[in-house]
Amino acid sequence: MERVTLTEIAQAVGGTLSNCPDCAVTEISTDTRTITPGCVFLALRGARFDGHTFARQACEQGAVAVISDHVIPDCPCIVVDSTGKALLAFAAYYRRKFQPFFVGVTGSVGKTTTKNMIALVLSTHCKTLKTAGNLNNEIGLPKTLMGLDSTYKAAVVEMGMSDFGEISRLSKAAAPSIGVITNIGFSHIAQLKSQEGICRAKLEILDGMAADAPLVVNGDDPYLIPLKTTLSRPVYTYGIKNAGADCRAERIVSENGCTSFDLCWQGTVTPVTLPCIGEHNVMNGAAAFCIGMLAGMEPEEIAGALRTYQPDGMRQNIQQIDDKTVILDCYNASPDSMRASLSVLGQLSVTGRRIGVLGDMLELGEQSRQLHRMVGGLVTPAQVDLLFCYGPESRYIAEEAAKQGVPVQHFTEKEALTEQLRRSLQPGDAVLFKASRGMQLESVAKALFPAL
Ligand code: ATP
Ligand code: MG
Repeated sequence: MERVTLTEIAQAVGGTLSNCPDCAVTEISTDTRTITPGCVFLALRGARFDGHTFARQACEQGAVAVISDHVIPDCPCIVVDSTGKALLAFAAYYRRKFQPFFVGVTGSVGKTTTKNMIALVLSTHCKTLKTAGNLNNEIGLPKTLMGLDSTYKAAVVEMGMSDFGEISRLSKAAAPSIGVITNIGFSHIAQLKSQEGICRAKLEILDGMAADAPLVVNGDDPYLIPLKTTLSRPVYTYGIKNAGADCRAERIVSENGCTSFDLCWQGTVTPVTLPCIGEHNVMNGAAAFCIGMLAGMEPEEIAGALRTYQPDGMRQNIQQIDDKTVILDCYNASPDSMRASLSVLGQLSVTGRRIGVLGDMLELGEQSRQLHRMVGGLVTPAQVDLLFCYGPESRYIAEEAAKQGVPVQHFTEKEALTEQLRRSLQPGDAVLFKASRGMQLESVAKALFPAL
């Protein structure tokens, strides 16, 4: 962070200095484990912890002031009503010191992947800041914004939410010069009630954008297509199915773990190769292509960047382990990402069988049963030969798949699942492990494949 004074911080957050001589600082920290001398410590209140308990310790470790929601005797403080709001308010103030090409990414699934692809593209063009990992909430986003300085010419931030109002607050802080909406799916439908509700919540990204700032959206998504005519700002669409999309992917070919396709954009056709598979990644790549074009890059420069994309961590991690192919995708699961992962399994060329190991998708509320059934219906199109389901809700995936004639077993105990899989797996099989993070299905995969 570039230097700011404590008086400036107090003004930005509407706080009052208490027992706090002014000085300049270059960091606001919320964690005493990583505190550096000379920083400001912001005491967050969470469900399980209260940062105020660590305020004195922070000062002993060298913090010059604490942003707190009450006066802490003998501690230099900037006193505010809510420290969480202060974090966002300061980040919003600080972000406005700079004018990078600023991209905000939201949507139900594919945010992190799209954000990473956009950052990869833009960083070949200019110095680009991006959200680290998945830090997409009201704590992670302000921390990303505080990483800005005048050397960055571009920034890409991910915006996540679980309820109405969150994307609005994040977008007002980040003030994106371009917004991206990857899709309208089912994640958090328990709180938002319907896909219309989810769409409204994602559109809150407009709250922080200038009236003429462009929006880039998935042109294959029935909830997003109408925006091209209903919004008065420029709206660019990307897609595979939508023949009228501004950026259209054609001639998609998947081979040796890579996907090649042509991107047609305003009369130009650019061959693109991504080192990963699945049509969802073609969509993510097309979104990144749109952003690169809007940033004034050459199509070949963008394609060159996308060729070097590396998927990370537990997101669609495909590995050849001995004589089997393992897809570990236990980072999260929603009906949309289940569809994407199953289609990846269906695309793999295998000598053995395609085996799905699917666990519960959490937080789907009243629609949980119906959405698990819907996933059960996707198993046959993905050419799954054998299905294992784990967890109480996945019983409905199993029931629906069984109706379609897929051999399926349902488990409520990981040990039993692991043992049955150990007995069933054969050389040449490809196995997909997918479930919500909370199911920790990776422990089953790792027990069977210690090399993972
Ligand atoms: P989170 O809400 O956890 O931040 P996210 O929106 O950032 O998720 P990613 O982490 O990029 O999403 O992807 C999660 C999973 O969703 C991937 O492993 C993949 O299976 C699937 N996925 C990625 N992109 C798409 C897409 N465009 N459409 C559908 N599914 C996708
Ligand atoms: Mg994410």
